[in-house]
Amino acid sequence: MQTPVSLFTAASAESISTQSNLIQAVAPTTHGNQLEAAPLALKTLDELSQDAANCRLCALAETRHHVVFGTGNQKAELLFIGEAPGQDEDIQGEPFVGRAGQLLDRMLQAIGLDRQQVYIMNTIKCRPPNNRDPKQDEVQACHLWFEQQLDLLQPKVICLLGRVAAQTVLNTDAPLGTLRGQWHDYQGIPVRATYHPAYLLRSPQQKHKSWQDLMIIHDQLTKA
Ligand code: URA
Repeated sequence: MQTPVSLFTAASAESISTQSNLIQAVAPTTHGNQLEAAPLALKTLDELSQDAANCRLCALAETRHHVVFGTGNQKAELLFIGEAPGQDEDIQGEPFVGRAGQLLDRMLQAIGLDRQQVYIMNTIKCRPPNNRDPKQDEVQACHLWFEQQLDLLQPKVICLLGRVAAQTVLNTDAPLGTLRGQWHDYQGIPVRATYHPAYLLRSPQQKHKSWQDLMIIHDQLTKA
């Protein structure tokens, strides 16, 4: 199935720069582990990424190798949000580069997309030791980066990958089975939750459901 690139790159440079102006007064910087406002700092996504690279707002800073900020098209209409960096991502500094990432690439291909047309990030930017679930305080600390990153990206649709991302972003304890199969809202942006690629590697019989989810997202983007 072929999907025109333009469908997924609609946000104009103008709207992006307007957004970056809007967040000028709330950009966090870190000093020690104290959060400070950075008044009058006009942040772009690249600048925000550079700031985040030095983040020490939670204990994961002690064990991480890289802050995994996010990757892809900064003007993408479709944003994927996973759980947290794993070992491969921590080493390479990029989200979804391990086996789960390779499956995500194939899932994208199935709807006619590739990594350069979407944006990919996680709910938190540093790897929890032994790939445990992120803790509440880690999610809270990282939310400062998360919120601003979303303000700058302004995607048309968000796809949440797996239970942890879905529960974190939608602020609920509901199981993924309940959250999947319906539209949600995150600050006015339509959100869909689907299975995490790592889960699909273990349960390939569920892949067709994720494909259905991606088709629904694709339809939403094409009808806009
Ligand atoms: N799993 C995730 O949730 N995110 C990654 O970046 C890699 C694996």
